[in-house]
Amino acid sequence: MREQLERYLALLLKANAQFNLTAIRDSDGIRTRHFEDSLKLLDAAAFAGKRVLDVGSGAGFPGLVLRVAEPSVKLTLLDATGKKVRFLQSVCDDLEFSDVLCVHGRAEELGHDKGYREQYDIVTARGVAALPALCEVCLPFVRPGGLFLAMKETPETFSGAARFGGAQEEPSLYTLPDGREHAVCRFRKTAPTPPEYPRAWGKIRRGE
Ligand code: SAH
Repeated sequence: MREQLERYLALLLKANAQFNLTAIRDSDGIRTRHFEDSLKLLDAAAFAGKRVLDVGSGAGFPGLVLRVAEPSVKLTLLDATGKKVRFLQSVCDDLEFSDVLCVHGRAEELGHDKGYREQYDIVTARGVAALPALCEVCLPFVRPGGLFLAMKETPETFSGAARFGGAQEEPSLYTLPDGREHAVCRFRKTAPTPPEYPRAWGKIRRGE
């Protein structure tokens, strides 16, 4: 696993020199604040063999790191930015992760596509949007009984998740090697998401 992460790190550093892929650009920062942080998600749920969707994966966090650590996950990476998806695909090609699907698209649109809606055991997101907006775009992808895991700097609550078929559970808290404390907010899919959700991004953002 370490060897694959180091290869991934080299590809990240190379791509970062060409375009702005991640704000953290030094090797140690990437190891602790991206790799170690993403790996902590493995303590929050059982990932082996699960269908996992990482929404707004960016340069691959947490999704691609999970796939390195737990090769049995059936992973889809989704991002709205073409150059990020091309980078993700190039890392998957390099690491020979031919089973990983890299998708260029918007969550609020794909959430209405029956090929994606309610098709995942676990949906993950880190740093994409505020929790209410994230619940609206992520919960539609979760199969009933499955989980949506939002990685946040502090435990946050969102009482409106029931509107999208979710019920919030106790968060998992963890400490990074550099002493930072982070949280995984957990939502269980307890009912199907009503068909009107997710709405257009503009409406979601305005919090109507
Ligand atoms: N998860 C990564 C990237 C966070 S930056 C990390 O933690 O490092 C947020 C990413 O979400 C960006 O790459 C952006 O393109 C993507 N994004 C934002 N809104 C989105 C949407 N509605 N659908 C899909 N991707 C989205």
